[in-house]
Amino acid sequence: MDRRFALMIEPASEPRADYSDTFTVVDASAPALSVGELSTQRGDGVFESIGVVDGHAQEVGPHLERLAHSADLCDLPAPDLAQWAQAIAVAAGHCGPGESVIKLILSRGVEKGPAPTAWATAAPAGDFSRARTEGIRVVTLDRGYDSGAADRAPWLLLGAKTLSYAVNMAALREAHRRGADDAVFLTTDHVVLEAPTASLILRFGDRFVTPAPHGGILQGTTQISVFGHLEAAGYTTEYATVPAADLAAADQAWLVSSVRLAAPIVAIDDRPLAVDAPFTAALNAYLLSPRD
Ligand code: PLP
Repeated sequence: MDRRFALMIEPASEPRADYSDTFTVVDASAPALSVGELSTQRGDGVFESIGVVDGHAQEVGPHLERLAHSADLCDLPAPDLAQWAQAIAVAAGHCGPGESVIKLILSRGVEKGPAPTAWATAAPAGDFSRARTEGIRVVTLDRGYDSGAADRAPWLLLGAKTLSYAVNMAALREAHRRGADDAVFLTTDHVVLEAPTASLILRFGDRFVTPAPHGGILQGTTQISVFGHLEAAGYTTEYATVPAADLAAADQAWLVSSVRLAAPIVAIDDRPLAVDAPFTAALNAYLLSPRD
């Protein structure tokens, strides 16, 4: 696709077979939000980024489930998932060949307003071929809370994909300042979490491990899909509490996410890691194949 597409979504009062009259296509390059929008004033809302390959939106069901989960954690009204699924289909219809990204945004709405604001966009995806083939350097960064914080302070919304990504973006800038491409967050008690916009998968022999999603991280749709793929190929997969010290013992590692897909890690804190290029290429070929 050569230009952005945007769709405003009116809340539907009840479920129906066709939601098209709740959608308004807007000019994606023109202003569309009220200045009273709480998404822009406070980052108060939730979102999803969905990879699209040749017009096929990937893993729509898992993304919608996570949208509903994030909305629930944020005390937002439950999204009508059939309406969102139709909005995704409309947006995907505007994505041409190649890779695109559909974003879903559900905000608390306008201050003192009657309803949440919802919209979806579609745009061409960036070119991540270098990250997928040449790999990325990562540094570990202190996330500033311990591994009990998510349970102790649920208002931190650690398992929700909220619009408040300023901290995640600051961590990426810090990683760049340290000469790396990306970061892996650690708790203050040295437990491995996730990257600012991706999940971490570690390989130990034929066992693939990812940090358990109960510790205040976002469970990645890509990680779940990769684990299913690896299990089908006979590998062992595991959700675990991963001590930071285990990073040095991993044979290989990847950051995985919906749009960049699998980026092999070539170094963690300057310690080189081996990259299995054919294995990673096969993983990305799987991630680029149509997935539901
Ligand atoms: N963790 C965080 C904090 C993220 O922001 C993301 C994606 O943006 C992920 C993990 C990976 O999620 P997914 O694979 O669903 O894109």
